[in-house]
Amino acid sequence: MAEILPVGEAMERALALLEGGDVVAIPTETVYGLAGDATNGVGVARIFEAKGRPRFNPLIAHVADLAMAERIAIFDPMSKRLAEMFWPGPLTLVLPQQAGNGIHPLVTAGLDTIALRMPRGFGGELIARLGRPLAAPSANSSGKISATTAQAVAADLGARIRLVVDGGATPVGLESTIVKVEGNIVRLLRPGGIAAADIETAVGTKLLRGAISGIEAPGMLASHYAPGASVRLNAQKVAEGEALLAFGGDRAEGWQAAVALRNLSASGDLREAASNLFAHLQELDRSGAATIAVEPIPVDGLGEAINDRLIRAAAPRDKLD
Ligand code: AMP
Ligand code: MG
Repeated sequence: MAEILPVGEAMERALALLEGGDVVAIPTETVYGLAGDATNGVGVARIFEAKGRPRFNPLIAHVADLAMAERIAIFDPMSKRLAEMFWPGPLTLVLPQQAGNGIHPLVTAGLDTIALRMPRGFGGELIARLGRPLAAPSANSSGKISATTAQAVAADLGARIRLVVDGGATPVGLESTIVKVEGNIVRLLRPGGIAAADIETAVGTKLLRGAISGIEAPGMLASHYAPGASVRLNAQKVAEGEALLAFGGDRAEGWQAAVALRNLSASGDLREAASNLFAHLQELDRSGAATIAVEPIPVDGLGEAINDRLIRAAAPRDKLD
């Protein structure tokens, strides 16, 4: 069962867990977050595992200050102004990533943009002490409502995590507002803890609502990382000219002929496989192979989200959401 420690006593234990690639539930001003080191792929994979999330959707990366944010992402003047006005606070900005920022691709689901926020209170102090950003979705199992007390987190996730930091009831109680600046328009991707009207006053213009495609729920993505190569699932044999995305110790027939090969996890560890998924897909895509053959991957635990991502990569491009 997870230990519950008050904020005043939790710092060293939380740091030790994060340094070891584990997750910690922390209070923020919005809702409780399930945090992992955003530069550690296994730590990020554990977030999805503990939540039982069936999909690798991109997570919000949390920073301690604007300097950390600017090492991670490229700020246009309007985004910078919003950060200066509303951070720390419940505003998330979607921004292009700086090359070589150390953010693990599982945080952003392989995208070249990143969602960033600076939380108030314990979360901000923890990130400053760690010296690295934390990826943190809401601390609840997938499909349940967000937790606003440490007791609610422990009741839901207590058997799957080691520590819940108790900061009392979260003051805002709603997720962050997510916006993205596109040229001189500001798009509201998800309504949340800061009223759209307050942002409109700050930027002096109306917010555009919803994602670009118009068919998605607020906060959902308008586009996902998709490899240029086509993807063939549950491959038993490797065909001429194919690259191979392997899993486990047994190779598909004809693997020696693959133009490129990456193994998600030679030992068959789904956590390791999840942390390697986006980087390996991108590397095989860069091999120039027209098709990436993918060995069968179990569907239990994190395997569900891994298979979901691969099914999307294999789907006809106009079917991608
Ligand atoms: P959660 O962490 O569960 O509060 O959800 C984070 C939200 O941020 C999701 O709705 C994502 O779709 C959205 N998000 C995260 N990263 C990006 C991004 N790079 N572009 C657009 N939306 C994003
Ligand atoms: Mg949530």
